[in-house]
Amino acid sequence: MTEPDFRDYMTVRLIGGGADDASVVAAARVSTAGLDSLEYLEGGADEGSGLINFLMRNRHGTPFEHNQFRFYIHAPIFVFREFQRHRVGWSYNEESGRYTKLEPVFYIPSSQRKLVQEGKTGEYRFRAGNKEQHTLVAEGHKRVARQAYANYLRMLDMGVAKEVARMTLPLNLYSSMYATCNARSLMAFLGLRTERDEATFRSTPMREIEMVAEDMEDVFEALMPITHSAFNNSGRVCP
Ligand SMILES: Cc1cc2nc3c(=O)[nH]c(=O)nc-3n(C[C@H](O)[C@H](O)[C@H](O)COP(=O)(O)OP(=O)(O)OC[C@H]3O[C@@H](n4cnc5c(N)ncnc54)[C@H](O)[C@@H]3O)c2cc1C
Repeated sequence: MTEPDFRDYMTVRLIGGGADDASVVAAARVSTAGLDSLEYLEGGADEGSGLINFLMRNRHGTPFEHNQFRFYIHAPIFVFREFQRHRVGWSYNEESGRYTKLEPVFYIPSSQRKLVQEGKTGEYRFRAGNKEQHTLVAEGHKRVARQAYANYLRMLDMGVAKEVARMTLPLNLYSSMYATCNARSLMAFLGLRTERDEATFRSTPMREIEMVAEDMEDVFEALMPITHSAFNNSGRVCP
């Protein structure tokens, strides 16, 4: 068997959709401008800045729904398990372990990943692990992944169905999914899955889902800079 691919990063790619600040302004303006609101779709982002900040501050959320981000995400199964708890305004499609032979790609935390947990439930703080702990984590996870994948292949060779053989694989196996959302659902996700000092409600997400969230936030900031800035100005509370 070839050596599995051990990774310490996630892949997040914008693969489609359409999102800009002008769509927020136009959707809000239809309220009083009707057909003329279409003119706001042409942009003039600065004009919308005051309005977008007003909508965000006062939690008028629906104008932030008229856009779309379609992401391809490659991340470990334990990240997807947390991710797919976000139900509202999200669509998901994920790679099947019933229909395809799963590739041996496994997540191993990098040496930068804080390993030691302190404090109590809901208020955990993490600090760096020592060299011995990092070696234990990396080597332990690698050993189990190699063994589990060899077991998986053996079962397939013996004619066992993929859906049964996959039960032997650990949660740090990577999977692929499409995840599609709008800016409002994305902000709800970012508020919970990033840890920021400036947040009104500080969250304590698992680092690995935060890595995915950070990449998604870069896309959000690039496509909707005014909305992104208003989100930060409002304590990262989803409108
Ligand atoms: C730090 C952290 C720790 C967590 N720990 C755990 C854990 O230990 N165990 C666990 O099971 N989960 C845990 N979760 C997941 C969490 O409980 C939520 O499932 C997840 O954050 C999605 O949030 P949401 O329900 O607001 O999102 P969505 O499902 O996208 O919902 C968005 C919003 O829609 C409304 N809404 C959605 N569904 C309903 C409904 N049925 N009724 C009324 N209103 C609704 C709510 O206003 C909700 O905020 C954790 C999440 C975080 C960030």
